[in-house]
Amino acid sequence: MKDYFPEILAPAGNLEKLKVAVLYGANAVYVGGQKFGLRTAADNFTLDELREGVLFAHERQAKVYVVLNSFLHDKDLSEIPEFIEFLSEIKVDAVIVSDLGVVKTVASLTSIPIHISTQASTLNVEAAKFWKAAGASRIVLGREVSVKDAGKIKREAQIEVEMFIHGSMCMAYSGNCVISNFTQGRDSNRGGCAHSCRFEYSLDFGIDTMEKKKAFFMSSKDLEGLRILPEFISEEIDSLKIEGRMKSHLYAGTMSKVYSEALSFYREHGHFLSEDLLSWESELQKVSHRSYTQASLINPAGADSIFNERENSSDSEWQMVGKVLEASPKTGIVLEVRNAFNQGDSIEILSFRGKAISITAHEITDIMMKPVTRTRPSTLVKLPFVSGVEKWQLVRQQVLA
Ligand code: SF4
Repeated sequence: MKDYFPEILAPAGNLEKLKVAVLYGANAVYVGGQKFGLRTAADNFTLDELREGVLFAHERQAKVYVVLNSFLHDKDLSEIPEFIEFLSEIKVDAVIVSDLGVVKTVASLTSIPIHISTQASTLNVEAAKFWKAAGASRIVLGREVSVKDAGKIKREAQIEVEMFIHGSMCMAYSGNCVISNFTQGRDSNRGGCAHSCRFEYSLDFGIDTMEKKKAFFMSSKDLEGLRILPEFISEEIDSLKIEGRMKSHLYAGTMSKVYSEALSFYREHGHFLSEDLLSWESELQKVSHRSYTQASLINPAGADSIFNERENSSDSEWQMVGKVLEASPKTGIVLEVRNAFNQGDSIEILSFRGKAISITAHEITDIMMKPVTRTRPSTLVKLPFVSGVEKWQLVRQQVLA
């Protein structure tokens, strides 16, 4: 059996999501500081939060990569050295960069490994060799590259490669698009992409209004590569990336859990059984998503990867209703409520490993032990203890459409 296994790299839009992703099994997380990253709408990390996040991850043998993948002007570039010095001091495991000037500046200042962002759209061996010569240790390949070609790039350029395995897609070569700039005044390459390609547009054929047709014709389905995990392993892809720094805690936890469990299972058994795959796939259905596609992971994406249904058509979506703050026979389960639920509702606690724990919330009290019939967001409530429930686990509930 192969002894080469990729890492599962999860998105962490804030410190709490970082902790969730690591506890649910991610081997590494990628995060953004307050500047230079491409997700201005994510909460992003203050310097203190970055320090705490790195410590938390390292104590659990997980790595932290910091994104610096915005395209910068000269005045922005001059602010980089101070930030790099800080990242060096807190021992981040890599920075993710796309701008040539930033690569040069970072390489001249530090020995922190440099990963080339997917924004650079690296698709071939020669480009990978170029980035290696510029000081990069890993390339996050463009989403247009197949797993087979990624293996070839790795072998011939002798550099680590990272590929997206799950999440939303960019309709353009990642970020090389200005639809958002022109329709929303938000710059995709400076952290402001409004995902304009995912909106519904009207096709106007001219002659009369009857010929107008509304469609999501520029919008891609979401990527999902669970079934082809063995191909990634066989090509010795170094890192499997889950998109979505702006997505929910439940997304960060569920994705980290599903992909790391599937990987561990394959590592142990050398195969997947169909019932295991079905149970992981059913977990992937429980987070908000569009229909799934393998996009270009095996063959170039075709018309079947275009999303042309209404969003949120799923009738089995789940939402996070809370996070476990304490759990013991003495204290019961102390829950921080995120979304309201009622006495008598069925809820599930997402275990760190294995099946979720289903319970019916027959008995809910506040922390003064007064009965509660409907919980309120941002309050603490108690439920009777159930074996297997641990601090930091997420609690979810099915919401019918
Ligand atoms: S609008 Fe869509 S295609 Fe353009 S950069 Fe954003 S996600 Fe990519």
